[in-house]
Amino acid sequence: MVERSLPALLVTAPAGVRWLSGFSAPEDARVLIGESDAWLLTDGRYAEQVAAESSIEPVIERDWIDAVAARLNGTRLGVEAEHLTLATAAKLASRTGHEPIRTEGVVTRLRQRKDAAEIAAIRRAAELTDRAFEHGLTVLKPGVRELDVALAIERFVRSEGGDGMAFPIIVASGARSAMPHGTASSKTIEAGELVTIDMGAQVDGYCADMTRTVGIGTVSSQHRALFDAVLEAQRAATAQVRAGAAGRDLDRTARQVLAEHGLAEAFVHSLGHGVGLDVHEGPSLSSRSEDVLDASMTVTIEPGVYLAGDAGVRIEDLVLVGEDGAEVLSRTPTAWRAIETSA
Ligand code: ZN
Ligand code: ZN
Repeated sequence: MVERSLPALLVTAPAGVRWLSGFSAPEDARVLIGESDAWLLTDGRYAEQVAAESSIEPVIERDWIDAVAARLNGTRLGVEAEHLTLATAAKLASRTGHEPIRTEGVVTRLRQRKDAAEIAAIRRAAELTDRAFEHGLTVLKPGVRELDVALAIERFVRSEGGDGMAFPIIVASGARSAMPHGTASSKTIEAGELVTIDMGAQVDGYCADMTRTVGIGTVSSQHRALFDAVLEAQRAATAQVRAGAAGRDLDRTARQVLAEHGLAEAFVHSLGHGVGLDVHEGPSLSSRSEDVLDASMTVTIEPGVYLAGDAGVRIEDLVLVGEDGAEVLSRTPTAWRAIETSA
């Protein structure tokens, strides 16, 4: 805030509110940071919870905008331009007497490097994700719908004490696997198909994110070749993860491997992203990223190829960046796996 000449900052994005305060219902709270004080603003529904959880002084008020205005003493207020709505910005302007100052990335940048407790929570989320994936494979067979697999995974995560899923589970089989974000549908899974499962448990607020593509029985040699190319790209990029590596360079490494297999055009998204209280956060591992990895960041490495109307493959690991390399937190093997179809 001093660097940016901000006398006060209002944090509204839930992950930032949780990160600053420890409060586990951040969607209904905001943090106001002044020059020497900070307050967590929420309403009467949370009086007991906020007293137990928040590491900063709670303010219970029906109208939090009034609570902000009352504490500003006429100073200007920085707001999170990526999150605050235009309507709320207008109310803040009229009740504080100043147009809010737009800021971007103040808290999200601070959240990129994880401390020991955060890394421990992310490990727990990754470990539960591994076990839930294995559980999902026990129901994955021809004749089962994609949503049955997703339900089995989600039920497992909840029953094992996870908060829930970090995002809607993707189970994309056959031609649907060519949709990078094909959330589980009522489509029936058939022998010979590729099935992509992208999922992450959330534990104590922290997310995991992992993708595997498996075969249902025997798949075509063309589809198997897609898998082998993606695995090669995934391994090449993971091998280059370390503090100081540029997100852009890691993306290029994976893209070059896929280009050697004639699949440059089929890799339609970026290589990876940071993971923490948000499942998608900084740093960005993409061709346009300016971000450089640092120790204690947790990021995904997830190349994929997608051939419309045909099939797709993605392999995604969650990794912890170290000074000299990556520690892969996703323990589910990445090697090719075919589900027995006991006909
Ligand atoms: Zn994912
Ligand atoms: Zn991801």
